[in-house]
Amino acid sequence: MYTINENYLNLQGSYLFSEIAKRVEAYKEANPGADVIRLGIGDVTQPIAPAIIRALHTAVDEMGSAEGFHGYGPEQGYAFLRNAIAQQDYQERGCKIDPDEIFVSDGAKCDVGNIQEIFGLDNRVAVCDPVYPVYVDTNVMAGRSGRFDPKKGGFERLIYMPCTQENDFLPELPAQTPDLIYLCFPNNPTGAAIHKDALQKWVDYANQNGSIILYDAAYEAYISQEDIPHSIYECEGARTCAIEMHSFSKNAGFTGLRLGYTVIPKDLVCNGTSLHALWNRRHGTRYNGAPYIVQRAGEAVYSAEGKAQIRQQVAYYMENARMIREGLARAGFAVYGGVNAPYIWLKTPKNLTSWDFFDLLLKEVQLVGTPGSGFGASGEGFFRLTAFGTHENTIEALKRIQRL
Ligand code: PLP
Repeated sequence: MYTINENYLNLQGSYLFSEIAKRVEAYKEANPGADVIRLGIGDVTQPIAPAIIRALHTAVDEMGSAEGFHGYGPEQGYAFLRNAIAQQDYQERGCKIDPDEIFVSDGAKCDVGNIQEIFGLDNRVAVCDPVYPVYVDTNVMAGRSGRFDPKKGGFERLIYMPCTQENDFLPELPAQTPDLIYLCFPNNPTGAAIHKDALQKWVDYANQNGSIILYDAAYEAYISQEDIPHSIYECEGARTCAIEMHSFSKNAGFTGLRLGYTVIPKDLVCNGTSLHALWNRRHGTRYNGAPYIVQRAGEAVYSAEGKAQIRQQVAYYMENARMIREGLARAGFAVYGGVNAPYIWLKTPKNLTSWDFFDLLLKEVQLVGTPGSGFGASGEGFFRLTAFGTHENTIEALKRIQRL
């Protein structure tokens, strides 16, 4: 008789967004025709920019000719894209990252989920609380978490770093030393950003303790303030302690196209073994490369025209963020984030639990957000709204909240 990977049985409940979808569907079934506005899931709404669409069309046409056809490409990504990434995301910012330290993939979710595979099961993992659930769940599936402890409100073996109003939603160095440290800035879900000196402290800590930082920079394009690093490699010493993941989803609307990349510097060496070589082996074994046409679209993101167009899209979303932040503050809510991130993190009124506030918003004003407790115990009493809607929906959503 076969057996299953029993670690999966330790996973908690259904994935957050499935639970939200379930409740919204149930509401719509009971209230047919209800005009529900969704500011919940972090999916973008603006169409792909024209310069990127043009590059896609050209690449599609190439594939239909004998000369232009591309079959299996390099698993790590085409040089045209890796060069553009290395130059514009790193070298022009003063970070020493070479194109062959970049692994192109079909998105950051897969990479942040898969990266733990090259680390031993005995590693102690630290995550922020609240946290993007993928970091936790993939370690649970691997068997690195231990069981869920209801008293702790988390998994036995995971080290949780509470991010609360008291510490401005920035994690503090944990009492127990972790081996793997997940950091995400600008942060999903709190919208918090980290200043360079604060991130430098984490880099120094990781180097001193022999830890690795897994740095998720999926929202880097939303940074608007000076002195907020766009990459962990802006910090001194990060090449010996950090792996960084990026996505094309939120800066260029690739949530449906799928493209991302992970940076593994060649200086990352564990007892004589190169992490770059390990990941290269893993990537080449399990992955056959992002589609050629999508990588050409990715290349267009770095063209002068593409850059100008996606900057406008980010500005569009950040105008929504400003409206939500200021509108909620005027309505008396305590609001955070929304300055360097497309997420607004608000304190629920009257000490409502996150899910009670979710149900209240859905039933009373037909607005969907994301309950903070779905991101971890310290998210209880908070609620996430996203700036990814249209201006019209955002304005309507604010009117409804104010009415409430
Ligand atoms: N990392 C974080 C922190 C995210 O919030 C998301 C998506 O919401 C992702 C990664 C996923 O990015 P991708 O669409 O590239 O898989």
